[in-house]
Amino acid sequence: MKIICIGRNYVDHAKELNNPLPKAPVFFLKPDTSLLIRNRPFYYPEFSKEIHYETELVIKINRNGKHIQEKFSSKYFNEIGLGIDFTARDLQTNCKQKGLPWEIAKGFDNAAPLSKIISMDELSDTDNIKFHLEINGKRVQEGNSADMIFSVNKIISYVSQFITLKMSDLIFTGTPAGVGPIKIGDHLVGYLEDKKMLNFVIK
Ligand code: ZN
Repeated sequence: MKIICIGRNYVDHAKELNNPLPKAPVFFLKPDTSLLIRNRPFYYPEFSKEIHYETELVIKINRNGKHIQEKFSSKYFNEIGLGIDFTARDLQTNCKQKGLPWEIAKGFDNAAPLSKIISMDELSDTDNIKFHLEINGKRVQEGNSADMIFSVNKIISYVSQFITLKMSDLIFTGTPAGVGPIKIGDHLVGYLEDKKMLNFVIK
């Protein structure tokens, strides 16, 4: 199983980090060891002083495929969850400045908290999926799948030109604006529409 993450997939987030808008999806991978499930606590790692949350819709791939045409992409997923793409922003900024890969900033242990996965059939409108994150009871980030620069279908088609998608692979589909730092003691609660999906603490 692999985790594919899309960067810069919402206009307002690309702007807040002063990134140019991509002409094609930007993606990177996290290892399976970055998964943090069952709302276990996240232990703040000592190698960073600036871990940011990025709240993202997560698609679970349900069959193997490569060179998937966009018109067939919807046959490759039927389940969704909510995830956090934890990012060591201080390390990432350093990597970007030096033109180095990002793995130490994105792929560290537990850098991908993931909710339970539910059927898309449980959502009211799959073209208009609302989600948001609260920290200590305050809403800090909200998004809607309709605002993605590249749709899930487009992402699946694009990524599968390079990397074979396999059953159970996960795609983190990018974060809207409002990313920010976490600190020890924070309580993160994430919602998919009105369903409470993530509920964990930073230790
Ligand atoms: Zn992200």
